[in-house]
Amino acid sequence: MTWQFEHVTLGQRVRFGTGTAAADLAAEVERLGAGRVLLISSEPVAAEVTAKIDVAAHCTDVAPHVPVENAERARALAAKSGADLLVSVGGGSTTGLAKAIALTTGLPIVAVPTTYAGSEATNVWGLTEASRKTTGADDRVLPVTVIYDTALTASLPRALAVASGCNALAHCVDSMWAPRTDPINQALALEGIRALSTGLRNSLGEQLLYGAYLAAVAFASAGSGLHHKICHVLGGAYNLPHAETHTAVLPHVLAFNGSAVPSVAQRITDALGGSLLDLYAEIGASPVLRGVPDVREAAALILPSVPPSNPRAVTEDDLVALLTTAQNGAPRA
Ligand code: NAD
Repeated sequence: MTWQFEHVTLGQRVRFGTGTAAADLAAEVERLGAGRVLLISSEPVAAEVTAKIDVAAHCTDVAPHVPVENAERARALAAKSGADLLVSVGGGSTTGLAKAIALTTGLPIVAVPTTYAGSEATNVWGLTEASRKTTGADDRVLPVTVIYDTALTASLPRALAVASGCNALAHCVDSMWAPRTDPINQALALEGIRALSTGLRNSLGEQLLYGAYLAAVAFASAGSGLHHKICHVLGGAYNLPHAETHTAVLPHVLAFNGSAVPSVAQRITDALGGSLLDLYAEIGASPVLRGVPDVREAAALILPSVPPSNPRAVTEDDLVALLTTAQNGAPRA
């Protein structure tokens, strides 16, 4: 087989450490020559992270899936405060709000993540209006710098850390067959799977953050595959929790697609160090999908967004079967 692909690498600075966020943030604010920082965060740890910088204004208006009204209020605060830099401290919802401001203002973002969602390493934004989530890609929303500090994720409750880590695993697995998958983003995805599974098994914050970053870089490059299309539609239609829904759906998409591309499935299993379901049992992750009232309605909503390049053709009945199995928790072979 000959290779033919076009790969794009997004440019951003990454600073990584433990207990280093405040010093790294001060260094970045100075390096960027910023004078008026708008802090976006509703996490208590934000005070500690910003202890060494001046904050001109603080937006705490963070909500899941970035409601348009919150974005408008945050944009107004950015204008009123004369902000020249956005600093986000939090999970994907917080980074998402900073991205919504950057999308219309072009202001640079320094992102300080506190979960494994990975939004900080992608150029993808999302906004929700009247229960409909719209997403798009725009390089203006890619944070110029990401500051990883393993001390910040240490406060995640175990269940949240597991779900968030599995959300990152889903970025990796889906990258293996997403529309722009290539040997470069597959290498990142497989190393991400190795780091995340090791981190999840042994509660290693460094491996988890490193893996979450690789996962997001792979995903930003490869695009959304079947797994993300399913979760995106379910999350928007039924207002489901993000990380938990990704966790529940992943084994079922892996079983479905993996049967069509056994060599890819084997590479994923090797990187995981065993089966995904064994890992789930070991770490207490749930493969049971909750909160979908009508699987046939859900399947009909998902079908139009299935990527044509998916390794296996997908019918509405396939989606009904996949979702029904997901509700029962046991993936089919
Ligand atoms: P989240 O940001 O909503 O955080 C989940 C919960 O964890 C919140 O209650 C938050 O307060 C809490 N939390 C965060 N950090 C914590 C910490 N260190 N200790 C204790 N509690 C903490 O959820 P998420 O899963 O991080 O992000 C999900 C959102 O991100 C979704 O809207 C999703 O669409 C988006 N996302 C976007 C991209 C992208 O590329 N644009 C990628 C991944 C996720």
